[in-house]
Amino acid sequence: MLRQRAVEITDVDEALVRLAQDMVETMYEAPGIGLAAPQVGVERRMFVYDVGDGPAVVLNPRIVESHGEWAYDEGCLSIPGLSWELVRPKQVRLLGVDLDGNEIDIDADELLARCFQHEIDHLDGVLVVERLDEVQRKEAMRVLRQRALDAPQTRGHLVGRVVSSRGQS
Ligand SMILES: [Zn+2]
Repeated sequence: MLRQRAVEITDVDEALVRLAQDMVETMYEAPGIGLAAPQVGVERRMFVYDVGDGPAVVLNPRIVESHGEWAYDEGCLSIPGLSWELVRPKQVRLLGVDLDGNEIDIDADELLARCFQHEIDHLDGVLVVERLDEVQRKEAMRVLRQRALDAPQTRGHLVGRVVSSRGQS
């Protein structure tokens, strides 16, 4: 369900606005700093985020520039409670539109840049575990397998099982 490429959004209707509001609530409940529509089962190119400056919604986001490198302990609300040190570009320039059709053009650094890259990965069907190195990935798979054995009914649940909020998205 998280593996396909989400489709572009061509018009904003009431249902999409409501979805965005629900996603913001889900993100805060988790709690996390970002949430992409495919994480709630909607394969459309939209994500919400809040790194401390209030919630925002981005439609059809794309990164047009990236610079530098930054190591950060990155987690994902779709894989609660785990995080991995991952190097990605430190700064990115994000383009997109908001729910009112206004152009978005943001030069993001560090945590915000990381959030944007992580959410766009979700829109492209890429989970953070796919960006890990071999050792990290083996350990992640071991933990996830064990967790599935311990509590099969919790597999795939998004909300309510996050132990630490920082960097989860
Ligand atoms: Zn995620």
